Amino acid sequence: MNIQEIFEKIDNEIELNKAEMMFLLDLKNPEEIEQLFAKAYDVKLKNVGQKAYFRGIVEFSNYCVKDCFYCGIRKSNKNTERFQIPEEDVIKSAVWSYNAGYGSSVLQSGERSDSEFVDSVERMLKEIKKQTDNKLGITISLGEQTLETYKRWFEAGAHRYLLRIETTNKELFNKIHPVDELHNFETRINCLKLLKKAGYQVGTGVMIGLPFQTTEDLVNDILFFKENDIDMIGMGPYIFHEETPMAQYRKDWELDKEALLTKALKMIAVTRIYLKDVNIAATTALQALRHTGREAGLQAGANIIMPNSTDTQYRENYQLYENKPCTDENASMCRGCLQRRIEGIGETIGFNEWGDSPHFHNRQKSS
Ligand code: SAH
Ligand code: SF4
Repeated sequence: MNIQEIFEKIDNEIELNKAEMMFLLDLKNPEEIEQLFAKAYDVKLKNVGQKAYFRGIVEFSNYCVKDCFYCGIRKSNKNTERFQIPEEDVIKSAVWSYNAGYGSSVLQSGERSDSEFVDSVERMLKEIKKQTDNKLGITISLGEQTLETYKRWFEAGAHRYLLRIETTNKELFNKIHPVDELHNFETRINCLKLLKKAGYQVGTGVMIGLPFQTTEDLVNDILFFKENDIDMIGMGPYIFHEETPMAQYRKDWELDKEALLTKALKMIAVTRIYLKDVNIAATTALQALRHTGREAGLQAGANIIMPNSTDTQYRENYQLYENKPCTDENASMCRGCLQRRIEGIGETIGFNEWGDSPHFHNRQKSS
């Protein structure tokens, strides 16, 4: 297989096949990898433009009923001090994002589905909409819920939802989660369908560089995004957390930071090339690997950045993975820092815009 032939297909908008996508993900030569990123950047410019959109993220609680084997805030991790930010402070942080010109915000937390939690989220959503004159876009990332809950939150004002499938290889999914009723591959896939039914712009994604994960798995992940007509992608490198069961694979599977970053960036690039008009986030985990990891994500085809708008005092205990960056900073520092970095690479920031996924609107038009 020849890289120039693949690039020609991309230029002529001919869909790549699985073998070609695997070839790109397996590229080793640094020059060719740079060419791949440049190609993905072209596809991004053509399909979603050069603007990067900000979503101020508030990580408002680390209480979680689940026990995902990779995650630092899993239920069984007794070393994590649990916190729940009071409703009014979550609202304040979201309104802060609005006033900072972010256009959109994200609320994320550990998973709970008890009625106290569901009601509380509903109240916060309504209040945030009210206090921002219905103008702030709200994405939520609160795990698996019933259709009824998804609908209530949609009606309260959330219009996008992020639920990563984590991996589309069922066998691997079952290796990185306990196999029980709470952690079920089919349920998670079904939730993506329920979210669409409830009216959300739907985002999903996977972790990149998981133990046992193959290049073919990653290509299948991209095909899954396409088959399921996904609007937004939030993918990031998998990063070991010492206090989790998956730390046992560290010795055999841990990549050095740059190698893992390159793998994640290649995945962003090939996803952009294949899916074209979706929103793709340059996730914070990229920055855990390299100081300028998020900028590198934008240069490899991503177009969304999620600055942290969480109160600094709570950041330390929302450690899904090790070395999470920016835990000592506050929201204004994150804004200033990211703005400088992004403008530094020649991108424009879409201040005060929702920055919806063009794919969502294209999907509405064609249905
Ligand atoms: N509880 C919700 C949202 C918070 S977790 C949910 O699980 O959907 C958000 C994401 O963090 C997860 O989807 C997972 O992909 C990611 N994550 C968790 N542990 C991680 C780790 N060790 N390395 C990288 N990403 C991780
Ligand atoms: Fe909970 Fe989400 Fe972490 Fe799983 S990944 S343990 S659901 S916070």
